[in-house]
Amino acid sequence: MPIEKAREILKHRFGYDAFRLHQEVAIESVLQGKDCVVLMPTGGGKSLCYQIPALVMDGLTVVISPLIALMKDQVDALRANGVEAAFLNSTQTAAEQVPVFQKVRSGELKLLYVAPERLLQSGDRFIDFLRELNISLFAIDEAHCISSWGHDFRPEYLRLASLKREFPNVPVIALTATADKLVRKDIVERLAINDADVFVSSFNRQNIHYTVEPKRNSYGQLLEFLDDRKDQSGIIYCLSRNSVDSLAGDLRDEGFSALPYHAGLDKQTRDLHQTSFLNDETKIIVATIAFGMGIDKSNVRFVVHMDLPKNVESYYQETGRAGRDGLESEALLFYSYADVTKLKGFVEIEGNTDQSAIMLKKLDAMATYGDLKFCRRKFLLNYFSEEFSGSCDNCDNCTKKVERFDGTIIAQKALSAVYRTGQRFGMSYVIDILRGSQAQTVRDEHKNLKTFGVGADIPKQVWFDHFKDLIAQGYLAQKEGTYPTLMLTDKSGDVLSGKTSVELIKVTVKEEKKPKLVAEVSLPYDKALFEELRGIRTVFAKTENVPPYVVFSDATLVEMATYFPQLDWELRKISGVGDLKFEKYGDAFLRVIKNYSLKNNLVSNIGLKSRKRTNKTRTKRDASGKDTYRISFEMFRDGRSVAEIAEERGIQPSTVESHLAKFIATGEMELHELVPVDKIETIRSAVLKFNDGGQLSPIKELLGDDYSYGEIKAVIASMA
Ligand code: ADP
Ligand code: ZN
Repeated sequence: MPIEKAREILKHRFGYDAFRLHQEVAIESVLQGKDCVVLMPTGGGKSLCYQIPALVMDGLTVVISPLIALMKDQVDALRANGVEAAFLNSTQTAAEQVPVFQKVRSGELKLLYVAPERLLQSGDRFIDFLRELNISLFAIDEAHCISSWGHDFRPEYLRLASLKREFPNVPVIALTATADKLVRKDIVERLAINDADVFVSSFNRQNIHYTVEPKRNSYGQLLEFLDDRKDQSGIIYCLSRNSVDSLAGDLRDEGFSALPYHAGLDKQTRDLHQTSFLNDETKIIVATIAFGMGIDKSNVRFVVHMDLPKNVESYYQETGRAGRDGLESEALLFYSYADVTKLKGFVEIEGNTDQSAIMLKKLDAMATYGDLKFCRRKFLLNYFSEEFSGSCDNCDNCTKKVERFDGTIIAQKALSAVYRTGQRFGMSYVIDILRGSQAQTVRDEHKNLKTFGVGADIPKQVWFDHFKDLIAQGYLAQKEGTYPTLMLTDKSGDVLSGKTSVELIKVTVKEEKKPKLVAEVSLPYDKALFEELRGIRTVFAKTENVPPYVVFSDATLVEMATYFPQLDWELRKISGVGDLKFEKYGDAFLRVIKNYSLKNNLVSNIGLKSRKRTNKTRTKRDASGKDTYRISFEMFRDGRSVAEIAEERGIQPSTVESHLAKFIATGEMELHELVPVDKIETIRSAVLKFNDGGQLSPIKELLGDDYSYGEIKAVIASMA
């Protein structure tokens, strides 16, 4: 059975235990000779959908990809697993291409990557050449490029339409991370693969926490954000090369490990910076969108957008580079309405009104996301035509409780204060006017304004929130620059004249959720060993002149540093260790792990791995749930109090207490460590009184305020 062969290849060539998402069904479809379209989020694992069939079938798989810069890495990665692959593109000299053609002719190659323009170069010469060969499959990567509905339309892709006509019997697999329905329809139509199976995987990236902050003093806001993330890897996107350079410089001055990346740097510098980032030598890469296409760095903990992306597609792809390892990660966007106005000029395509209209609509959707008051994940998934109801509990809007009220009068006061001070002042000053401040900074002529003091009943901090809200809703704008003055917008007039009513949000924070520490602490692996493993990975990577992840990905090293495999078969159980890599690197990595284990009294616990989740997405909650208990426990063991743990982790003290209660049940903690001895008996008898199962509240009521839920839970745990 071909699919069994596919499973064997997955394990032996690539070293993975199980297929992800729709990999298996897509591969099955290809192996049956059908055309198919695969939609999977970035990092989902699209490549294997054609790489594995390429190995199962006789003949050559031709991969069409627009990402010339990536071809070499992709081919290197395949070769590292013992797969015969090569590429043809415009970066090569004719002399470099000769051996590739030879290998194609001799049938040695299983996969050939070509750029679309190369495929269709010099009339039909290349097509004629392919016709003489035994082609098993055409894989069209980044297939959304064929659609003018898409965000990344490339006219040269249109010519791929002739493939199916030229090669009616060769199956076509089209792959993309864009799930837009129109684009999907376009792909099928334009490639003339009307009977194609379409596989749409969920685009939900559960482990990414989405936050949007109103852009005010974005540099200061960024520093605050980074302050908690000193050791983490992240990407910071800016719109322009200049801002990339200056931000990277500023961050370095501030003591951060940061490097710039954009198309204006020469190739050598770019490669250097990219490699340094991939190797974790540099923690932060500040980049334009030129950075990241296909970056396979699993431990990117955060992606920050200093400026608004042009469309949701790009935003989702860029944020998708965070957290490929499945660990908690953060996507932060600084949003201001001014960005939308600025981008309008950028997205319009001269001389093409239709295309411009599409791009403007996409920009609008992006702005809607910035202004969004409900679950961001819901919006994102719905944008990609995926159902998602309810709230995700892992975005800023879900963790905030939002109440709205009619704020028309407040808005009118605010807008008129801006207007009457001549649209030349910043938020803080305008608020001072509204509140009738006697501060010296307030100019005398402003003290006579009608609006002076009309907002004295609202505290300054609350005014700030209202202003941010008004900006977010587009009723006010902020001028770019060191001193962001407030300005009216074309939406302001209707508010002032009373034609529009304005809803403002009353923000009360439900639970201050700081996901920041979670990722850091929840990594269950041995960091020192991980560092040693990275060290020898670098040695191999340097000798073979490939990026380190081609040797082993971070995720693979993390597994090694988690399960401490000591024997050959144990190492083979590590995800990402296929046959060839095992042959090539197995001994060296085992040696490092064994030495380290010996020194540190560690033994293999590979047995735990088989019990581990195979389906990452489904059981993730349990897994992280377990971790979070242990984190609290370990912090407690480190001598921190419940309150300190709660503060540091950004969770409620009662949550920490219930975490700890678990370890009382397992016997790893003594009850009196958590509950004062003199309280224990009282709680116990109260618990016994209500011994009717489950309900804590009557017990709590009986005991009163001096006893916390956590204490009660701990006592119950000790009685179990
Ligand atoms: P995409 O092209 O969809 O962005 P890739 O094909 O580059 O994603 O895959 C992302 C990462 O996931 C790669 O490191 C790849 O080796 C890994 N991967 C793919 N399929 C599996 C699998 N079934 N099990 C474990 N890892 C996988
Ligand atoms: Zn949400």
